[in-house]
Amino acid sequence: MGTYNPYENVVTMIRDAGDRLGYKECDYIATMYPERELKVSFPVRMDDGTVKMFEGYRVQHSSSRGPCKGGIRYHPDSDENEVKALAAWMTFKCAVVGIPYGGAKGAVKVDPSTLSRNELERLTRRFTAMIAPMLGPERDIPAPDINTNGEIMGWIMDTYSMLKGYAIPGVVTGKPIDIGGSLGRPEATGRGVMITTREILKKLNMSVEKTRVVVQGMGNVGSVSARLLSEQGAAVIAVSDVSGGIFRESGLDIPDILRFLEEKGNLLKDYKQSGVTYVSNQELLALPTDVLIPAAMENQINGDNAANVKAKLIIEGANGPTTVEADKILEANGIVVVPDILANAGGVVVSYFEWVQNIQSLMWDEDEINKAQARIMCKAIETVYENYHGKNISLRTSAYMIALKKLVTAKKTRGIFP
Ligand code: GLU
Repeated sequence: MGTYNPYENVVTMIRDAGDRLGYKECDYIATMYPERELKVSFPVRMDDGTVKMFEGYRVQHSSSRGPCKGGIRYHPDSDENEVKALAAWMTFKCAVVGIPYGGAKGAVKVDPSTLSRNELERLTRRFTAMIAPMLGPERDIPAPDINTNGEIMGWIMDTYSMLKGYAIPGVVTGKPIDIGGSLGRPEATGRGVMITTREILKKLNMSVEKTRVVVQGMGNVGSVSARLLSEQGAAVIAVSDVSGGIFRESGLDIPDILRFLEEKGNLLKDYKQSGVTYVSNQELLALPTDVLIPAAMENQINGDNAANVKAKLIIEGANGPTTVEADKILEANGIVVVPDILANAGGVVVSYFEWVQNIQSLMWDEDEINKAQARIMCKAIETVYENYHGKNISLRTSAYMIALKKLVTAKKTRGIFP
């Protein structure tokens, strides 16, 4: 990925939104810097008795609108700039959907598939202890992200609780149900992507039925998005994972593919079904389709390949999948991009419900959660669309303008200490 620095993308977007809002740089300058960054190195005892060192990060970008909120990922390519960008995206995401949080993100530089379950648990617990001074239900609340899940969130909750001496479920979201997790949270991000796709299609006078959809990434976000959109009648014609993609013009059998992927170690390159052909990840991004959902990593649609994209609509399931350079090319080609900070906000919206349930010791039913999530998402989609429609701006700029306005107002209202 060369010298790609996602944090520069964030700063460009903030400046762009600030200019459009007629702000002076000093009005929004605080949003261009993360409030607090922690880099940790820590030892983990391996199963064979040796000790390995790992590096991790937790960045709090903003607490202007509430406690910092955002996931923890385990990935060998994670670094400071990525985590800073991801933390900032959380700030803007929470602001655009109007939930009372700032933004944060964390990462450990590791490929978790090289660890045993016990090693993974020890790594998680030690990392939690290293960043514990920054955490707390009223300070900073992690959640799952790439390569982390409910089980890992459970270990974080337990470690933090042990350090404090009592159970504190509200320190982390995306936990298993038995220890204070919320119904609907595992599929919340994908559900939000489905709602966003459906609502934006309506705006474009298209219906979800028969719409062709391509999904890059079959992790939590991609797999749920593919399933829910196919349940809504869309033809999901291609999906991919790290091993590459599969394609069938008439639409793939998503439930069958998900059953296949559920078996540990199965990869799409080994999936066999009549009419299915294999495509590379680059070919998948260039397939003729109505909707393209990048739901893998950042920097997937960039200056090198954006001109190949033939989708009418891109719904960003991942954080930061499209670079600023790519945005310009897509815009020139008339492709509508629904930005990550709106399209994938469904996850943190249900995280917010989980945290609210935890701090009030209440439990909501799933129907209530899904309805409340849809209400928040639809309102945010409407606001971002209204601010964009008929003006010469992208949906991304529109979303950033709405979020930046809320952040600047919060900062102004609170004032600057001392
Ligand atoms: N990691 C998810 C995201 O990027 C969820 C964050 C959360 O729920 O706090 O939005």
